[in-house]
Amino acid sequence: MRTTLTLLVTLLIAVGALFYIGPTTPVPGVAYVELVNVTGDDTGPTCPLDQRYVDEAPRGLRDDVLAAWNTLKAKAAAEGVSMCLNDGKRSSQQQQAEFDGAVRRFGSAEQASKYVLTPEASNHVKGIAADIQPLASASWVERGNGKFGWCRRYQNEPWHFEYDPSYVNGCPPMLPNALASR
Ligand SMILES: [Zn+2]
Repeated sequence: MRTTLTLLVTLLIAVGALFYIGPTTPVPGVAYVELVNVTGDDTGPTCPLDQRYVDEAPRGLRDDVLAAWNTLKAKAAAEGVSMCLNDGKRSSQQQQAEFDGAVRRFGSAEQASKYVLTPEASNHVKGIAADIQPLASASWVERGNGKFGWCRRYQNEPWHFEYDPSYVNGCPPMLPNALASR
């Protein structure tokens, strides 16, 4: 009897732990689950339009954002414009590494924050941001003024776009830099 009880309790704890850890990938029909631990590609094939950049697979973006990214690329292609995803989804860990690198490059957390946000603040971690290259393609998206839900957000990052369904009504005013968004 005692053995059975112990087994039952162990089983309950094991099942409970499974649910506690929970899914880290988006579940259709469930309100936006935490995407912070979802890893995106660190790199990809060289961008055919400009060899200084890469063209990552858009893995890890929030479901609706991924759909919007594919739509954006299709609409652009219909007008003869190609674009590369130089950076998209990052996990919290990937973002921290980027931030640490920026602190080394720029010399302080304050300066680094103008270009790379912390994992808590980054929209790349939330899976709603895309760095579009080359800049000629990025400016095509910018000229659309949110027509497809994508807006440039920062004056100092002409490549950085974020998706929000409400942007189809026009882009919000740009912020000077990422630091200003906190
Ligand atoms: Zn960005």
